Amino acid sequence: MGMVITIDGPAASGKSSVSRELARRLGWQWVSTGAFYRGLAFAALQLQIDLDDVKSLTDLTHNPVWSVRMEHDRTKVFFKDQDVTDLIAHEDVGNFASKVSHYPEVRKALLEAQRNCSSGPQGLVAEGRDCGTVVFPEAEAKVYLTANSEHRAARRAAELGLAQDDMVKAQQQRDHQDSTRKVAPMTVPDDALVVDTTALNLEQVVDKVVEYVKNKI
Ligand code: C5P
Repeated sequence: MGMVITIDGPAASGKSSVSRELARRLGWQWVSTGAFYRGLAFAALQLQIDLDDVKSLTDLTHNPVWSVRMEHDRTKVFFKDQDVTDLIAHEDVGNFASKVSHYPEVRKALLEAQRNCSSGPQGLVAEGRDCGTVVFPEAEAKVYLTANSEHRAARRAAELGLAQDDMVKAQQQRDHQDSTRKVAPMTVPDDALVVDTTALNLEQVVDKVVEYVKNKI
């Protein structure tokens, strides 16, 4: 397994932008582990699998009808050979992803594929909710990003062209589900650097993270 840096945090805390830029600066690979949950939820909806049917969801985790592919600028999801990365970015798919992600069987079934992302010769920046606690507990460096909820909702609403009030509610519900679930809840890893991104721009956050990780790798 190569070197790993994990970046966890709630919805729209800046994880993807920061991870992508950090990976670019280090010349490492980057994976958004949320793509596994979004991809699974999307595939389930397309195949009309009930999101409460844990057995079928768990079987679907290994079905080649859908797949995740790491690229430099995005973690892509394919369904029936179609690139559905733009479709899974919607907040409603995020909410369905959050629903399927609370089943321990589903989380366990997706773990190996997530860990395999670090098998290449380069280092890996892995982003999600439990990357530092469960997926890569031995990571060289761990970061947890946070930001106030209005700011996060405004950021994501602007990206998706949606109303901010609806976004605040949707994200609060998703964060609540993600942080209160029994298995692998979203939580700050013990040894993580915590960065509040509310008042910082992307470069300022990445500078802080680079400063932190360069002593660890
Ligand atoms: O990060 P993203 O918004 O794409 O994640 C979508 C959902 O997938 C999250 O709300 C969470 O429920 C789930 N997820 C998870 N563990 C991860 C990454 C994402 O449970 N490591």
